Amino acid sequence: MAAVFLVTLYEYSPLFYITVVFVCFLVTSGLVLGGCCRPAIQLLSLSKEGTDFGLEITLLSLPGITLTPDCLEDCVLTCYWGCNVQKLHEALQKHVYCFRISTPQALEDALYDQYLYRQQYFIHKNDKEEKYCQLPEDAQVVDFGPVPRLCYPLIALLTLADEEDREIYDIISMVAVIHVPDESYRLSCRILYQYLLLAQGQYHDLKQLFMSANSPTPPSRGTSPDERSTDRSLLEKAGLAEDEPELHEENSKDCVVCQNGTVNWVLLPCRHTCLCDGCIKYFQQCPMCRQFVQESFPLCSKKDPRTFAYSNKERS
Ligand SMILES: [Zn+2]
Ligand SMILES: [Zn+2]
Repeated sequence: MAAVFLVTLYEYSPLFYITVVFVCFLVTSGLVLGGCCRPAIQLLSLSKEGTDFGLEITLLSLPGITLTPDCLEDCVLTCYWGCNVQKLHEALQKHVYCFRISTPQALEDALYDQYLYRQQYFIHKNDKEEKYCQLPEDAQVVDFGPVPRLCYPLIALLTLADEEDREIYDIISMVAVIHVPDESYRLSCRILYQYLLLAQGQYHDLKQLFMSANSPTPPSRGTSPDERSTDRSLLEKAGLAEDEPELHEENSKDCVVCQNGTVNWVLLPCRHTCLCDGCIKYFQQCPMCRQFVQESFPLCSKKDPRTFAYSNKERS
């Protein structure tokens, strides 16, 4: 039918025929490209859609570690020592497809209980109470084997304690993968990965921001002076950037360009956080590494003081 129409059209006017075919080509390519090229990085505002899960390593006192959770609702902190690496990543994939990880039991089922030891704490909302977790002596674990490892030293899972809250919030749990130094691998204690799990099945991989240097932010107590100097630009977790006003004032850093304004803009893809509200508009390239800026977003916007960024793993 369409072929007959095109042949008739060509016989009638070749020029008009070529124009029609060309327009059809443009429309089709527009549809195809528009459908495939979704941005890999999405910005999300937490304050409307999610509860807030914060987790900090506050003290390393081997063989244990002190964690300080900070949640806007009552939560449960579950720590899994010696959790199988592959099983954890399979569990995250299961969350994407059907098996939502909204409770500790759900994670344990998804992991097929492939961990050594479990500890659990109840966390009252807004109560930044320190929790000490440690493998018990009778677990008889000296280290977690040579690298590359088959299991992570510690996984911390934060889930909403109240069933009703799980219906309300989009972000239903947070998984942090924590390295704890031991005999066979002495890398300093740190959060290796942090994932926010959403009720609809996606998860976001939280990335660190690279703040401009000479910052007064105190390094974590588990870090040696050598590592401190190499790591000093790796400063704040995106999700932990928000603090009480006084602390924020003390931690505020100067813009690398005007040396006056408070650093507020994160540049992507390099994640350098080095420009103030006034200077951001003058830069198409990052002033620190010269990479072209594809996207940028503010840490605190005037309308919404809590804007966070996620690198969104693209899924079809
Ligand atoms: Zn500036
Ligand atoms: Zn940069």
